[in-house]
Amino acid sequence: MRYFYLDSAATTPIHTCIKNAMLRAMDSFGNPSSVYPLGLEARQMVEHARHQVAQMIGAEDDEILFTSGATESNNIVIHHFNEVYGGTELRNGWLSAVEHPSVVKAFERHFYSAPVHIYPDKHGVLPKIDKSDEWNGGVASVMLANNETGLVHNIDALADSFDCFHTDITQFVPHRQIDIHNFCGMDFIDFASFSAHKFGGPKGVGALFVNRAFTRDEVDMVTPLFGGGGQEHGYRSGTENVIGIVGMGAAAQYTMEHYDDTALDATIRQFADIILDTIPDSVLNFEPHIPVFSVCVKGVSNASLVMACGMRGVSISAGSACHGNGEEPSEVLLNMGMSEEDALQTIRISPPEDMHPDVLREACRIIADCASFLRKS
Ligand code: PMP
Repeated sequence: MRYFYLDSAATTPIHTCIKNAMLRAMDSFGNPSSVYPLGLEARQMVEHARHQVAQMIGAEDDEILFTSGATESNNIVIHHFNEVYGGTELRNGWLSAVEHPSVVKAFERHFYSAPVHIYPDKHGVLPKIDKSDEWNGGVASVMLANNETGLVHNIDALADSFDCFHTDITQFVPHRQIDIHNFCGMDFIDFASFSAHKFGGPKGVGALFVNRAFTRDEVDMVTPLFGGGGQEHGYRSGTENVIGIVGMGAAAQYTMEHYDDTALDATIRQFADIILDTIPDSVLNFEPHIPVFSVCVKGVSNASLVMACGMRGVSISAGSACHGNGEEPSEVLLNMGMSEEDALQTIRISPPEDMHPDVLREACRIIADCASFLRKS
């Protein structure tokens, strides 16, 4: 059976050149904190990777903390928000209504009060924050690109609104270049989270960008989420995942060398046309800015369609991978104004950017076939 992978928003395969870099790292088993040559060699590899990751987003090397992934990075930031602003100053927490569960749950777990939701419109446009009534500032977490809708949010509209601003860039950086200190001409992003496995790196490793230039925050870096051996200058304890970090560095290098905004725009348009032309009774819920297509296949349960396609060799998902492929409608889609019925008929198709159009067409024919079978049964 031929296999079609259309779920890059969930994770991506590791490119051969990245695998090779990781294999080399496996031969050097030293602890980066050890001072003898084997340790120094491992330290050098970690610092080289830090440089590659920093370069990918236009940051300084010392603004990158390695973590186990975006989930941890998000939790570190929300915990930090509470440590700095939750106690005496009592500032509000804000988040978009379409955040990844790792941000939503982090607010529930770490933040002293229920956060306020910001609702993007169906194009991903964020509303202006009304600062008229007893405004006392606040902290916010608003993702840049959404993993279910494929929309990029105009977070620059929030640049002046908050005391401290965090954005989850996990789904943006695999596709588009970001200059983190100069976003729409402004240096307002205090924290940013991302994961290696979304752009060709290994799973279980990610980074947190901490803006060293910000002066609005009294704290010089970030509050550690847990204590231990004091690695990452004390901000993230635990022996470094050297092999994973080297993989993330190599993946960052590969990704930044292949950014091409113009080609990507054309690819997104072409992929959307193929999907809509090939799958009957399908509707594109949003006009995406990254190759993540939220497609409502009318009259078919998304959970059944995902299962049926899987058995025919086509990997797609219903909502996000973290959301599961399931019976409950996606909270994100409901918060974007979709009906429960449409949300439960929505699949996510996220082909690799370099997939040949003919291959995507073939995969979509199988999706169409499965949908037609399910409608009849
Ligand atoms: N944020 C977003 C936007 C994501 O898409 C994901 C992965 N689905 C995460 C955070 C969490 O990433 P990880 O599971 O690698 O920690």
